[in-house]
Amino acid sequence: MGTPAHDAVRRAGLQSVLSLARALARRPIVVIAAIGLAAGLALRSDTVFLITLVAGGVPLVAQTLRGMLRGQFAADIVAMLAIITSLVLGQYFAGVIIVLMQSGGEALEAYAMQQASRSLEALMARAPKVAHRVSGTDVDDVPVDRVVVGDNLLVRPGDLVPVDCEVTEGSSSVDQSALTGEPLPMRAVAGTHLLSGSVNLEGVLRVRALRPSAQSQYQQIVVLVERARREKPPIQRIADRFAVWFTPVTLLMCGVAYLVTDSPASVLAVLVVATPCPLILATPVAVIAGISRAADLGVIVKHGRAIEQLGRARVVVFDKTGTLTLGQPSVAHVEGLDSVPAGDVLRLAAGVEQLSSHHLAHAVADAGRARFGSLPGASEFRESPGRGVSGRVEGHAVQVGSIPYLRDAGIAIAESPGDGTVAHVAIDGRLVGTIEFADRLRHQVPALMQRLAVLGVNDTVMLTGDREAPAEAIAAQAGIRTVRANLLPADKVVAVRDLARRHGNVLMVGDGINDAPALAAATVGVAMGAHGTAISAAPADVVLLVDDIARVGDAMAISRRMRRIALQSIGVGLGVSFALMVVASLGYITPAAGAVMQEALDAAVILNALRVR
Ligand code: ADP
Ligand code: MG
Repeated sequence: MGTPAHDAVRRAGLQSVLSLARALARRPIVVIAAIGLAAGLALRSDTVFLITLVAGGVPLVAQTLRGMLRGQFAADIVAMLAIITSLVLGQYFAGVIIVLMQSGGEALEAYAMQQASRSLEALMARAPKVAHRVSGTDVDDVPVDRVVVGDNLLVRPGDLVPVDCEVTEGSSSVDQSALTGEPLPMRAVAGTHLLSGSVNLEGVLRVRALRPSAQSQYQQIVVLVERARREKPPIQRIADRFAVWFTPVTLLMCGVAYLVTDSPASVLAVLVVATPCPLILATPVAVIAGISRAADLGVIVKHGRAIEQLGRARVVVFDKTGTLTLGQPSVAHVEGLDSVPAGDVLRLAAGVEQLSSHHLAHAVADAGRARFGSLPGASEFRESPGRGVSGRVEGHAVQVGSIPYLRDAGIAIAESPGDGTVAHVAIDGRLVGTIEFADRLRHQVPALMQRLAVLGVNDTVMLTGDREAPAEAIAAQAGIRTVRANLLPADKVVAVRDLARRHGNVLMVGDGINDAPALAAATVGVAMGAHGTAISAAPADVVLLVDDIARVGDAMAISRRMRRIALQSIGVGLGVSFALMVVASLGYITPAAGAVMQEALDAAVILNALRVR
């Protein structure tokens, strides 16, 4: 017999069948129609069919009429006409089947939607709800939205971290997998920043709230996902357009049927085979299933348009520092010039860099703290995005950044040799040293580039603010063809726009910090590993919660599969439906047989759409 994996699959299958049965049983019309059908067949009684048809059909017709009064001319009008016609023609058996299939179809749709969004539901259901607030010696349970910045909170083992916070006391390990997909728990001690929605595993932690609930990480993810679910992607509008044409075409075919066969039964048969509403639902089921599947992998897709366009990108653009290279670069070497000690260069540079959120700035600040314990404070801090930073430390004017940045400040500096990523340091207007970074390629990148080619991407491009030599070196390791170096954030926007004009669909992957404008200019912008940055503030369409660039390929693959399955559903569903209509209009299908065939088709199409998951 099967392996544990097979058993799990079988159990999951059984559970799906059971939950579908439960969904059906909750609908009174389905139950009435099913019992009436069985009783009518057992007793061979047309009267039982008639009673069942009236009892089940009247509420369905009433529901459709109410919809029409509200201006909704949906595809269920065809089903309504079919029910009425079967009653008028005395085709009670066929009528009962239509009632059963129509009400069962609605249950199936609801079930499919629920299945498709299962992990989204789970995501929302596990949002933090209460916080234990400490005041003096008391601990009160308060709703998370009442927590204000600075509140002292208690997080017990097993608790969800209620809001983004900083640990003030205690130590524990914390599971952030719901936020980042990272399976290994992280160590939390005094000073560690925690994100809402992570789980405290062992020790008791005292924490101080850093952000209110609405601005905390988990709650923001929930808001984004909810919004994504409501928005209609373009592919769904294609489906909606088909739906509008479906009803008039059906009525036309009814006319043809009457002219050809001169029999009202074939008119009924045409109406019966033409109920496309689950078919129209197949598309949203596929889209939601795609968004849901992506969320499982730690990829938050902010709207339906993005899940559809991801897979259609022909050019993928990457930022270098922090995107293709590790999110945490480190300082490899500090060089002092003109007998200035390297220690002074690092201390003063780190004093300024601690105020910047740039990846290289973190590296400099970390190296400074590792060497000196604490860093001197800086005032008059200014950042020029993608160029460098300046400030006043220990009474000196300090500048750290690229060659053009220092030249613009009037500092004499020669082109630097070597192909490493560097930042130059000036003190009081004089060049005093250079900081070299170990900016290593993420190990997943070469495999990702190969996968992109398989996913239909024709060109990969690196846009970087770094110099040519380090950019070329990283591009060669990565397997990226086109490199453009020495770009300012504004130049990256122009480059992305230009690519979009020439190739149509451009996907840009960046760090969401100083690449924000370029991410917004791309057809789809993907921001790397949120790292505690406010994810909804980033203008990206897609946010990777995990610091793993390979997920870009996963997201594209999900998108392509979703689109293929949705189009397949629309095409096959409408095609077969239309073929059945033609056959029925020639009088070759009885109304009862037609009802069974159409609904089997609808069920197949919807279940097919669920395969996206
Ligand atoms: P990328 O486009 O590859 O992400 P950036 O545009 O962020 O690179 O940075 C380009 C160059 O500007 C860096 O290689 C560095 O020399 C300099 N630079 C930018 N910001 C900083 C900073 N905060 N500290 C030091 N150097 C910086
Ligand atoms: Mg960058």
